[in-house]
Amino acid sequence: MHTTHTICDLAVQGIQNLIPYTPGKPIEELQRELGLSEIVKLASNENPLGSSPKAVEAIKTVLSELSRYPDGNGFCLKKALASKLKVSPEQITLGNGSNEILELVARVFLTPDLEVIFSQHAFAVYPLVTQAVGAKAKITPALNYAHDLDAMLASVNQSTRLVFIANPNNPTGTLLPSSAIENFLNELPKTVICVLDEAYFEFVSDEKKADSVAWLDKYPNLIITRTFSKAYGLAGLRVGYSLSSTVIADLLNRARQPFNNNMLALAAAEAALSDVDFLSLTVAANNSGMEQLTQAFKALSLSWITSAGNFVSVDLLQEAMPIYRALLKKGVIVRPVANYEMQNHLRISVGTAAENQFFINALKDVLIHV
Ligand SMILES: *Cc1c(COP(=O)(O)O)cnc(C)c1O
Repeated sequence: MHTTHTICDLAVQGIQNLIPYTPGKPIEELQRELGLSEIVKLASNENPLGSSPKAVEAIKTVLSELSRYPDGNGFCLKKALASKLKVSPEQITLGNGSNEILELVARVFLTPDLEVIFSQHAFAVYPLVTQAVGAKAKITPALNYAHDLDAMLASVNQSTRLVFIANPNNPTGTLLPSSAIENFLNELPKTVICVLDEAYFEFVSDEKKADSVAWLDKYPNLIITRTFSKAYGLAGLRVGYSLSSTVIADLLNRARQPFNNNMLALAAAEAALSDVDFLSLTVAANNSGMEQLTQAFKALSLSWITSAGNFVSVDLLQEAMPIYRALLKKGVIVRPVANYEMQNHLRISVGTAAENQFFINALKDVLIHV
């Protein structure tokens, strides 16, 4: 009567069939498995320079307060973000990483009879949050690995409630011109919520950066998400945020947990925001690291997808999984992207010059021996 499979049957449909997100392999795990002393991880688009020293100092100043609950409204961080981005604090929603915001959006706006549009090769969390609430995913074919905004618009119908656009996209690094996104927003019915995921915004060159915040006044259905995990180097603390109309921010705030950002994270993010020097060092290091990696790919006659982020997907012209495993044995962790329908690619996060070189040497070695 009471078999274990009946318990699984009790779960909601979306969860029963959900395949969990696969993170980049942790350094400690590879250490345990292979006992290697030197391991380079270029798998999760983390900041190779670490975190802002100001953020680390800020954490120390709140250590004596840990018995208290954090500020559930994130007053100071929202104030700092508002003044930097020229929005009102009421337009900001803080999340436990921007992934939490993506999930909140799904919970606030979706039901099983509604549809969500996102692109082939788009960020893996979009299908996850869509499926978890039982909504229907409509995946539009990519155009040269980039989002095809016309195809996305053409898929909109009466049931469409949400569109996810990652700009730059992960794992392709493709960047849509800001004029194309603006045209898209103009055409998109106001009954469709558009999430513009700008997790890699800070890495985009100034000429190509969209002034997306300015669009908020014009498009009440727009939600911009950003994060402290990538350029700000605070992935371990889990802080992200969204910018939207105050109406949407209010809705998202109703759905979140009361203390979704911990005290250390709030303090560190606020300090990191003020450390403009660390941010420019990060962007400069990324630009030169990207050059180093792509020059090496060129020398190996490999092609890659031009990336506006802090990672690059390289085409190995053969199945990438065996190369991934061979790289692991040499102490290099990169990211397989077969789950993104990119079987021949590996995604490489830009590391320090030394880390990039370690990876390049390992890749050369591996490619010679296959
Ligand atoms: C890394 C990433 C995020 C969010 O990461 P958090 O650590 O949850 O803020 C969101 N979108 C994309 C496209 C990403 O690559």
